[in-house]
Amino acid sequence: MLGRKERDQLELYMCGSLRDLVPDDHVLVKVDRVLDLSWLHEEVAELYAAGFGRPGIDPEVAVRLMLAGFLLGIVHDRRLMREAQVNIAIRWFIGFGLHEALPDHSSLTRIRQRWGAERFRTIFERTVKVCVAAKVAKGEVVHVDASLIRADVSWESLAVRHIDAVTDANEAAESERKSRKTGKYKKVCVTDPDASMATNGRNRRLEPAYKQHAVVDDACGVILDVEVTTGEINEGQVILSRLDAVAAMTGTIIKTATADAGYAYAKVFAGMEQRAIEAVIPAKAEPIRSPVPMRRFRYDAKHDTLKCPRGKMLKAGRAVKHGRFFTSRAADCRHCDLARLCLSNGRVNKAVVLGDDYPALLRARRRRERWSDEDRALYQRHRWRSEGYHGEAKTWHGLSRAIRRGLINMKIQAYLTAAAVNLKRLASAFLSILLFVYSQEATSSARHPFRQRKVFGIGLSVASA
Ligand code: SF4
Repeated sequence: MLGRKERDQLELYMCGSLRDLVPDDHVLVKVDRVLDLSWLHEEVAELYAAGFGRPGIDPEVAVRLMLAGFLLGIVHDRRLMREAQVNIAIRWFIGFGLHEALPDHSSLTRIRQRWGAERFRTIFERTVKVCVAAKVAKGEVVHVDASLIRADVSWESLAVRHIDAVTDANEAAESERKSRKTGKYKKVCVTDPDASMATNGRNRRLEPAYKQHAVVDDACGVILDVEVTTGEINEGQVILSRLDAVAAMTGTIIKTATADAGYAYAKVFAGMEQRAIEAVIPAKAEPIRSPVPMRRFRYDAKHDTLKCPRGKMLKAGRAVKHGRFFTSRAADCRHCDLARLCLSNGRVNKAVVLGDDYPALLRARRRRERWSDEDRALYQRHRWRSEGYHGEAKTWHGLSRAIRRGLINMKIQAYLTAAAVNLKRLASAFLSILLFVYSQEATSSARHPFRQRKVFGIGLSVASA
Protein backbone atom coordinates (compact mmCIF):
# COMPACT_ATOMS: atom_id res chain seq x y z
CA MET A 1 0.00 0.00 0.00
CA LEU A 2 1.21 3.45 -0.79
CA GLY A 3 2.27 5.19 2.41
CA ARG A 4 1.61 8.80 3.34
CA LYS A 5 3.52 10.91 5.86
CA GLU A 6 1.54 13.48 7.80
CA ARG A 7 3.54 16.74 7.79
CA ASP A 8 2.26 18.26 11.01
CA GLN A 9 4.41 20.67 12.90
CA LEU A 10 6.27 18.39 15.30
CA GLU A 11 7.24 19.38 18.79
CA LEU A 12 10.87 18.76 19.69
CA TYR A 13 11.30 16.62 22.75
CA MET A 14 14.69 15.19 23.35
CA CYS A 15 16.62 13.48 26.06
CA GLY A 16 20.21 12.38 25.94
CA SER A 17 23.07 14.07 24.14
CA LEU A 18 23.30 15.74 20.74
CA ARG A 19 26.23 13.39 20.24
CA ASP A 20 23.74 10.53 19.83
CA LEU A 21 22.40 12.24 16.70
CA VAL A 22 25.81 12.64 15.04
CA PRO A 23 27.18 9.60 13.16
CA ASP A 24 30.31 8.01 14.63
CA ASP A 25 32.21 8.39 11.38
CA HIS A 26 31.44 12.11 11.01
CA VAL A 27 34.66 14.09 10.56
CA LEU A 28 33.84 16.38 13.51
CA VAL A 29 33.36 13.38 15.79
CA LYS A 30 36.69 11.93 14.69
CA VAL A 31 38.52 15.21 15.13
CA ASP A 32 36.91 15.89 18.50
CA ARG A 33 38.57 12.75 19.90
CA VAL A 34 42.03 14.25 19.38
CA LEU A 35 41.26 17.93 19.89
CA ASP A 36 41.77 19.63 23.23
CA LEU A 37 41.94 23.42 23.18
CA SER A 38 41.82 23.97 26.94
CA TRP A 39 45.25 25.72 26.74
CA LEU A 40 43.88 28.38 24.41
CA HIS A 41 42.11 30.48 27.06
CA GLU A 42 45.38 31.21 28.83
CA GLU A 43 47.22 31.79 25.54
CA VAL A 44 44.97 34.67 24.46
CA ALA A 45 44.00 36.04 27.92
CA GLU A 46 46.48 38.95 27.65
CA LEU A 47 44.64 40.24 24.58
CA TYR A 48 41.47 40.94 26.58
CA ALA A 49 40.72 43.48 29.31
CA ALA A 50 40.62 41.74 32.69
CA GLY A 51 37.51 42.09 34.84
CA PHE A 52 35.45 44.61 32.89
CA GLY A 53 33.68 44.99 29.57
CA ARG A 54 31.20 42.70 27.88
CA PRO A 55 32.37 39.05 27.91
CA GLY A 56 33.62 38.06 24.48
CA ILE A 57 33.01 34.79 22.69
CA ASP A 58 34.83 31.84 24.30
CA PRO A 59 38.15 31.41 22.38
CA GLU A 60 37.68 27.65 22.20
CA VAL A 61 34.22 28.07 20.69
CA ALA A 62 35.60 30.49 18.09
CA VAL A 63 38.44 28.16 17.05
CA ARG A 64 36.17 25.13 17.00
CA LEU A 65 33.76 27.06 14.78
CA MET A 66 36.55 28.04 12.39
CA LEU A 67 37.99 24.50 12.34
CA ALA A 68 34.53 23.04 11.70
CA GLY A 69 34.19 25.44 8.77
CA PHE A 70 37.52 24.40 7.25
CA LEU A 71 36.89 20.70 7.88
CA LEU A 72 33.50 20.88 6.17
CA GLY A 73 34.62 23.27 3.41
CA ILE A 74 32.34 26.09 4.63
CA VAL A 75 34.93 28.82 4.79
CA HIS A 76 32.90 32.03 4.73
CA ASP A 77 31.77 33.25 8.15
CA ARG A 78 28.20 34.15 7.20
CA ARG A 79 27.62 30.85 5.47
CA LEU A 80 29.23 28.98 8.34
CA MET A 81 26.96 30.62 10.92
CA ARG A 82 23.88 29.97 8.80
CA GLU A 83 24.92 26.32 8.54
CA ALA A 84 25.72 26.08 12.26
CA GLN A 85 22.16 27.28 13.00
CA VAL A 86 20.72 24.02 11.63
CA ASN A 87 23.69 21.63 11.69
CA ILE A 88 23.56 19.41 14.78
CA ALA A 89 27.12 18.18 14.26
CA ILE A 90 28.56 21.71 14.34
CA ARG A 91 26.43 22.65 17.38
CA TRP A 92 27.65 19.58 19.22
CA PHE A 93 31.29 20.21 18.14
CA ILE A 94 31.27 23.76 19.55
CA GLY A 95 29.30 22.78 22.68
CA PHE A 96 26.06 24.64 21.92
CA GLY A 97 22.59 23.23 22.62
CA LEU A 98 19.76 23.30 20.10
CA HIS A 99 18.11 26.34 21.68
CA GLU A 100 21.25 28.37 22.38
CA ALA A 101 21.80 31.48 20.28
CA LEU A 102 25.00 31.31 18.25
CA PRO A 103 27.55 34.17 18.14
CA ASP A 104 27.26 36.72 15.37
CA HIS A 105 29.51 36.09 12.35
CA SER A 106 31.27 39.43 12.95
CA SER A 107 32.67 38.03 16.23
CA LEU A 108 34.95 35.78 14.19
CA THR A 109 36.27 38.76 12.21
CA ARG A 110 37.03 40.67 15.41
CA ILE A 111 38.81 37.64 16.87
CA ARG A 112 41.04 37.32 13.81
CA GLN A 113 41.89 41.00 14.02
CA ARG A 114 42.58 40.84 17.75
CA TRP A 115 44.67 37.66 17.73
CA GLY A 116 46.68 38.29 14.57
CA ALA A 117 48.30 35.56 12.49
CA GLU A 118 50.74 34.45 15.24
CA ARG A 119 48.06 32.93 17.48
CA PHE A 120 46.69 30.90 14.58
CA ARG A 121 50.20 29.78 13.71
CA THR A 122 50.53 28.57 17.31
CA ILE A 123 47.37 26.47 16.87
CA PHE A 124 48.84 24.96 13.69
CA GLU A 125 52.23 24.32 15.33
CA ARG A 126 50.55 22.53 18.22
CA THR A 127 48.94 20.11 15.79
CA VAL A 128 52.39 19.41 14.31
CA LYS A 129 53.97 18.80 17.72
CA VAL A 130 51.17 16.44 18.71
CA CYS A 131 51.57 14.49 15.47
CA VAL A 132 55.32 14.18 16.12
CA ALA A 133 54.75 13.17 19.77
CA ALA A 134 52.23 10.55 18.63
CA LYS A 135 54.68 9.30 15.96
CA VAL A 136 52.23 10.09 13.16
CA ALA A 137 54.96 12.36 11.75
CA LYS A 138 58.73 11.91 11.96
CA GLY A 139 60.18 14.95 10.24
CA GLU A 140 63.12 13.03 8.73
CA VAL A 141 61.95 12.77 5.11
CA VAL A 142 59.96 15.76 3.89
CA HIS A 143 58.42 17.01 0.65
CA VAL A 144 58.40 20.70 -0.24
CA ASP A 145 56.15 22.40 -2.73
CA ALA A 146 54.42 25.70 -3.37
CA SER A 147 51.08 26.54 -4.88
CA LEU A 148 49.37 29.72 -5.99
CA ILE A 149 46.14 30.80 -4.33
CA ARG A 150 43.96 33.19 -6.27
CA ALA A 151 43.46 36.46 -4.40
CA ASP A 152 39.91 37.54 -3.61
CA VAL A 153 39.85 40.39 -6.14
CA SER A 154 38.12 40.94 -9.45
CA TRP A 155 39.86 41.55 -12.76
CA GLU A 156 38.42 45.07 -12.74
CA SER A 157 40.45 45.92 -9.64
CA LEU A 158 43.76 45.48 -11.46
CA ALA A 159 45.51 48.67 -12.51
CA VAL A 160 48.81 49.79 -13.88
CA ARG A 161 50.69 51.56 -11.11
CA HIS A 162 50.10 55.28 -11.25
CA ILE A 163 53.79 56.16 -11.40
CA ASP A 164 54.33 53.81 -14.36
CA ALA A 165 51.38 55.23 -16.24
CA VAL A 166 52.54 58.81 -15.65
CA THR A 167 56.10 57.99 -16.69
CA ASP A 168 54.83 56.40 -19.85
CA ALA A 169 52.46 59.30 -20.61
CA ASN A 170 55.31 61.79 -20.27
CA GLU A 171 57.48 59.71 -22.57
CA ALA A 172 60.26 59.69 -20.03
CA ALA A 173 63.02 57.12 -20.06
CA GLU A 174 61.91 53.58 -20.61
CA SER A 175 60.52 52.31 -17.35
CA GLU A 176 62.36 49.43 -15.73
CA ARG A 177 59.10 48.28 -14.26
CA LYS A 178 58.13 46.65 -17.51
CA SER A 179 58.08 42.89 -17.41
CA ARG A 180 61.01 41.41 -19.29
CA LYS A 181 58.86 38.57 -20.62
CA THR A 182 55.77 40.43 -21.79
CA GLY A 183 57.12 43.95 -22.25
CA LYS A 184 54.04 45.25 -20.44
CA TYR A 185 53.81 47.13 -17.17
CA LYS A 186 53.13 44.99 -14.14
CA LYS A 187 49.71 45.47 -12.66
CA VAL A 188 48.73 45.79 -9.02
CA CYS A 189 45.49 44.93 -7.22
CA VAL A 190 43.85 48.10 -6.01
CA THR A 191 41.62 46.24 -3.56
CA ASP A 192 44.31 43.87 -2.24
CA PRO A 193 47.79 45.36 -2.70
CA ASP A 194 49.41 42.44 -0.80
CA ALA A 195 48.58 40.06 -3.64
CA SER A 196 50.87 40.19 -6.67
CA MET A 197 50.58 39.09 -10.28
CA ALA A 198 51.91 35.58 -10.75
CA THR A 199 51.60 32.65 -13.08
CA ASN A 200 52.19 28.95 -12.70
CA GLY A 201 53.62 26.39 -15.10
CA ARG A 202 50.29 25.03 -16.31
CA ASN A 203 48.18 28.15 -16.49
CA ARG A 204 50.27 30.78 -18.21
CA ARG A 205 47.84 33.58 -17.49
CA LEU A 206 49.03 36.14 -14.96
CA GLU A 207 46.58 36.50 -12.08
CA PRO A 208 46.56 38.22 -8.70
CA ALA A 209 47.70 35.57 -6.26
CA TYR A 210 49.35 34.55 -3.03
CA LYS A 211 51.76 31.64 -2.77
CA GLN A 212 51.52 28.91 -0.15
CA HIS A 213 54.78 27.11 0.67
CA ALA A 214 54.19 23.77 2.41
CA VAL A 215 56.47 21.11 3.89
CA VAL A 216 54.79 17.70 4.15
CA ASP A 217 56.03 14.71 6.13
CA ASP A 218 56.63 11.51 4.21
CA ALA A 219 55.17 9.09 6.77
CA CYS A 220 51.46 10.00 6.90
CA GLY A 221 51.29 13.30 5.02
CA VAL A 222 51.22 15.56 8.09
CA ILE A 223 51.80 19.21 7.19
CA LEU A 224 54.96 20.17 9.08
CA ASP A 225 55.14 23.78 7.95
CA VAL A 226 53.11 26.18 5.92
CA GLU A 227 53.87 29.80 5.04
CA VAL A 228 52.27 32.31 2.72
CA THR A 229 53.99 35.00 0.63
CA THR A 230 52.84 37.19 -2.20
CA GLY A 231 52.56 35.36 -5.51
CA GLU A 232 55.75 36.64 -7.11
CA ILE A 233 58.14 35.33 -4.44
CA ASN A 234 60.26 32.54 -5.91
CA GLU A 235 60.14 29.13 -4.23
CA GLY A 236 63.93 28.95 -4.06
CA GLN A 237 64.02 32.02 -1.80
CA VAL A 238 61.87 30.34 0.84
CA ILE A 239 62.74 26.64 1.00
CA LEU A 240 65.81 26.82 3.25
CA SER A 241 64.14 28.97 5.90
CA ARG A 242 61.10 26.65 5.88
CA LEU A 243 63.30 23.56 6.35
CA ASP A 244 65.03 25.31 9.27
CA ALA A 245 61.64 26.10 10.77
CA VAL A 246 60.57 22.44 10.49
CA ALA A 247 63.79 21.19 12.13
CA ALA A 248 63.37 23.68 14.98
CA MET A 249 59.70 22.81 15.52
CA THR A 250 60.00 19.01 15.38
CA GLY A 251 63.43 18.80 17.05
CA THR A 252 64.40 16.26 14.39
CA ILE A 253 67.26 16.49 11.89
CA ILE A 254 65.90 16.40 8.36
CA LYS A 255 67.67 13.68 6.38
CA THR A 256 66.05 14.01 2.96
CA ALA A 257 63.99 16.68 1.24
CA THR A 258 62.29 16.40 -2.13
CA ALA A 259 61.13 19.25 -4.34
CA ASP A 260 60.35 19.77 -8.00
CA ALA A 261 62.54 21.42 -10.66
CA GLY A 262 61.29 24.86 -9.63
CA TYR A 263 63.66 24.61 -6.65
CA ALA A 264 66.73 23.49 -8.63
CA TYR A 265 68.96 26.48 -7.91
CA ALA A 266 72.63 26.38 -6.96
CA LYS A 267 71.86 28.32 -3.78
CA VAL A 268 69.28 25.72 -2.71
CA PHE A 269 71.63 22.79 -3.34
CA ALA A 270 74.45 24.54 -1.47
CA GLY A 271 72.15 25.37 1.47
CA MET A 272 71.04 21.74 1.69
CA GLU A 273 74.64 20.52 1.59
CA GLN A 274 75.49 22.86 4.48
CA ARG A 275 72.58 21.40 6.47
CA ALA A 276 73.55 17.81 5.54
CA ILE A 277 70.15 17.29 3.90
CA GLU A 278 70.03 14.95 0.94
CA ALA A 279 68.26 16.82 -1.86
CA VAL A 280 66.06 14.76 -4.18
CA ILE A 281 65.47 17.60 -6.62
CA PRO A 282 65.76 17.12 -10.40
CA ALA A 283 68.60 19.49 -11.26
CA LYS A 284 68.08 21.07 -14.65
CA ALA A 285 70.67 20.69 -17.40
CA GLU A 286 72.71 23.73 -18.36
CA PRO A 287 70.64 25.94 -20.68
CA ILE A 288 72.28 26.38 -24.09
CA ARG A 289 72.39 30.10 -24.83
CA SER A 290 75.65 30.24 -26.75
CA PRO A 291 77.47 28.14 -29.39
CA VAL A 292 80.05 27.38 -26.68
CA PRO A 293 77.87 26.82 -23.59
CA MET A 294 79.09 26.73 -20.02
CA ARG A 295 78.71 22.96 -19.84
CA ARG A 296 81.78 22.69 -22.08
CA PHE A 297 83.88 24.45 -19.44
CA ARG A 298 85.15 22.21 -16.62
CA TYR A 299 85.39 23.59 -13.10
CA ASP A 300 88.18 22.16 -10.92
CA ALA A 301 87.09 22.66 -7.31
CA LYS A 302 90.45 21.52 -5.91
CA HIS A 303 92.48 24.14 -7.74
CA ASP A 304 89.59 26.64 -8.14
CA THR A 305 90.17 26.96 -11.85
CA LEU A 306 88.04 26.64 -14.95
CA LYS A 307 89.21 24.78 -18.03
CA CYS A 308 87.85 25.86 -21.41
CA PRO A 309 86.91 23.49 -24.29
CA ARG A 310 90.43 23.91 -25.71
CA GLY A 311 92.07 23.02 -22.40
CA LYS A 312 93.16 26.56 -21.44
CA MET A 313 92.89 27.73 -17.83
CA LEU A 314 90.61 30.57 -16.75
CA LYS A 315 91.66 32.03 -13.43
CA ALA A 316 89.45 33.47 -10.68
CA GLY A 317 89.47 37.25 -10.48
CA ARG A 318 87.20 40.10 -9.46
CA ALA A 319 84.32 39.25 -7.09
CA VAL A 320 80.80 40.29 -8.00
CA LYS A 321 77.51 39.82 -6.18
CA HIS A 322 77.06 36.05 -5.47
CA GLY A 323 80.06 35.03 -7.63
CA ARG A 324 83.43 35.74 -9.25
CA PHE A 325 84.81 36.47 -12.68
CA PHE A 326 86.98 33.80 -14.33
CA THR A 327 89.09 35.06 -17.23
CA SER A 328 91.35 33.46 -19.81
CA ARG A 329 94.63 34.94 -21.14
CA ALA A 330 94.34 36.86 -24.38
CA ALA A 331 97.41 35.04 -25.69
CA ASP A 332 95.59 31.70 -25.30
CA CYS A 333 92.53 32.86 -27.23
CA ARG A 334 94.36 34.73 -29.99
CA HIS A 335 94.91 31.68 -32.22
CA CYS A 336 92.03 29.54 -31.00
CA ASP A 337 89.76 28.06 -33.68
CA LEU A 338 86.75 28.56 -31.40
CA ALA A 339 87.42 32.24 -30.74
CA ARG A 340 84.80 33.47 -33.21
CA LEU A 341 82.07 31.47 -31.44
CA CYS A 342 83.40 31.64 -27.89
CA LEU A 343 84.30 35.31 -27.45
CA SER A 344 81.87 38.21 -27.29
CA ASN A 345 82.18 40.96 -29.87
CA GLY A 346 85.23 43.16 -29.30
CA ARG A 347 86.76 40.95 -26.60
CA VAL A 348 90.22 39.41 -26.82
CA ASN A 349 89.76 36.94 -23.98
CA LYS A 350 86.97 34.96 -22.35
CA ALA A 351 85.32 36.19 -19.15
CA VAL A 352 82.60 34.25 -17.35
CA VAL A 353 80.95 34.71 -13.97
CA LEU A 354 80.63 31.61 -11.78
CA GLY A 355 78.24 31.75 -8.87
CA ASP A 356 79.59 30.92 -5.41
CA ASP A 357 77.37 27.85 -5.27
CA TYR A 358 78.19 26.59 -8.76
CA PRO A 359 80.14 23.52 -7.46
CA ALA A 360 77.05 22.43 -5.48
CA LEU A 361 74.95 22.72 -8.65
CA LEU A 362 77.46 20.57 -10.55
CA ARG A 363 77.34 17.92 -7.82
CA ALA A 364 73.53 17.98 -7.90
CA ARG A 365 73.54 17.50 -11.68
CA ARG A 366 75.88 14.55 -11.38
CA ARG A 367 73.74 13.07 -8.60
CA ARG A 368 70.60 13.49 -10.71
CA GLU A 369 72.16 11.26 -13.38
CA ARG A 370 72.74 8.57 -10.74
CA TRP A 371 69.35 8.61 -9.05
CA SER A 372 68.61 5.17 -7.55
CA ASP A 373 65.26 3.38 -7.71
CA GLU A 374 64.71 4.53 -4.14
CA ASP A 375 65.23 8.16 -5.17
CA ARG A 376 62.79 7.77 -8.04
CA ALA A 377 60.20 6.16 -5.76
CA LEU A 378 60.66 8.98 -3.25
CA TYR A 379 60.20 11.58 -5.96
CA GLN A 380 57.01 9.81 -7.04
CA ARG A 381 55.79 10.04 -3.44
CA HIS A 382 56.59 13.74 -3.54
CA ARG A 383 53.82 14.12 -6.12
CA TRP A 384 51.01 12.58 -4.17
CA ARG A 385 52.18 13.69 -0.74
CA SER A 386 53.04 17.32 -1.45
CA GLU A 387 50.99 18.15 -4.49
CA GLY A 388 48.26 15.94 -3.00
CA TYR A 389 48.06 18.21 0.02
CA HIS A 390 47.62 21.33 -2.12
CA GLY A 391 44.91 19.55 -4.11
CA GLU A 392 43.16 18.34 -0.96
CA ALA A 393 43.28 21.79 0.64
CA LYS A 394 41.90 23.43 -2.49
CA THR A 395 39.25 20.84 -3.31
CA TRP A 396 37.89 20.04 0.16
CA HIS A 397 38.89 22.89 2.44
CA GLY A 398 38.30 26.01 0.38
CA LEU A 399 41.93 27.02 -0.28
CA SER A 400 41.51 27.46 -4.02
CA ARG A 401 40.76 31.12 -3.43
CA ALA A 402 41.53 33.56 -0.64
CA ILE A 403 38.48 34.12 1.56
CA ARG A 404 39.57 37.54 2.71
CA ARG A 405 42.00 40.21 1.56
CA GLY A 406 45.45 40.97 2.94
CA LEU A 407 48.49 38.81 3.65
CA ILE A 408 47.62 38.36 7.35
CA ASN A 409 44.15 37.04 6.55
CA MET A 410 45.62 34.74 3.92
CA LYS A 411 48.12 33.38 6.46
CA ILE A 412 45.33 32.71 8.96
CA GLN A 413 43.39 30.83 6.30
CA ALA A 414 46.46 28.72 5.42
CA TYR A 415 47.31 27.95 9.08
CA LEU A 416 43.78 26.86 9.93
CA THR A 417 43.49 24.77 6.77
CA ALA A 418 46.78 23.00 7.58
CA ALA A 419 45.70 22.53 11.22
CA ALA A 420 42.39 21.00 10.06
CA VAL A 421 44.22 18.60 7.72
CA ASN A 422 46.68 17.60 10.48
CA LEU A 423 43.81 16.90 12.87
CA LYS A 424 42.22 14.69 10.22
CA ARG A 425 45.52 12.79 9.81
CA LEU A 426 45.88 12.42 13.59
CA ALA A 427 42.28 11.29 14.02
CA SER A 428 42.48 8.66 11.31
CA ALA A 429 45.83 7.36 12.62
CA PHE A 430 44.39 7.04 16.12
CA LEU A 431 41.25 5.44 14.79
CA SER A 432 43.35 2.71 13.18
CA ILE A 433 45.13 2.07 16.47
CA LEU A 434 41.85 2.15 18.34
CA LEU A 435 40.22 -0.35 16.03
CA PHE A 436 43.21 -2.64 16.37
CA VAL A 437 43.09 -2.45 20.20
CA TYR A 438 39.33 -2.94 20.18
CA SER A 439 39.58 -5.99 17.93
CA GLN A 440 42.11 -7.46 20.38
CA GLU A 441 40.19 -6.70 23.55
CA ALA A 442 36.53 -6.56 22.59
CA THR A 443 34.15 -8.28 24.94
CA SER A 444 30.40 -8.35 24.92
CA SER A 445 30.29 -5.90 27.84
CA ALA A 446 32.84 -3.44 26.45
CA ARG A 447 31.64 -0.06 25.23
CA HIS A 448 32.00 0.55 21.55
CA PRO A 449 35.18 2.60 21.07
CA PHE A 450 33.47 5.20 18.93
CA ARG A 451 31.23 6.14 21.82
CA GLN A 452 34.09 7.04 24.13
CA ARG A 453 35.08 10.68 24.21
CA LYS A 454 38.72 11.71 24.50
CA VAL A 455 39.83 8.09 24.48
CA PHE A 456 43.46 9.17 24.26
CA GLY A 457 43.20 11.69 27.02
CA ILE A 458 45.22 14.79 27.45
CA GLY A 459 48.52 12.98 27.02
CA LEU A 460 48.06 12.68 23.30
CA SER A 461 45.86 15.66 22.66
CA VAL A 462 46.76 19.06 21.24
CA ALA A 463 47.25 20.22 24.84
CA SER A 464 50.29 18.02 25.26
CA ALA A 465 52.37 19.86 22.68
S1 SF4 B 1 88.50 31.30 -27.22
FE1 SF4 B 1 89.85 31.16 -25.44
S2 SF4 B 1 88.47 30.46 -23.81
FE2 SF4 B 1 87.37 30.10 -25.75
S3 SF4 B 1 87.87 28.00 -26.25
FE3 SF4 B 1 89.40 29.27 -27.29
S4 SF4 B 1 91.09 29.37 -25.84
FE4 SF4 B 1 89.36 28.63 -24.72
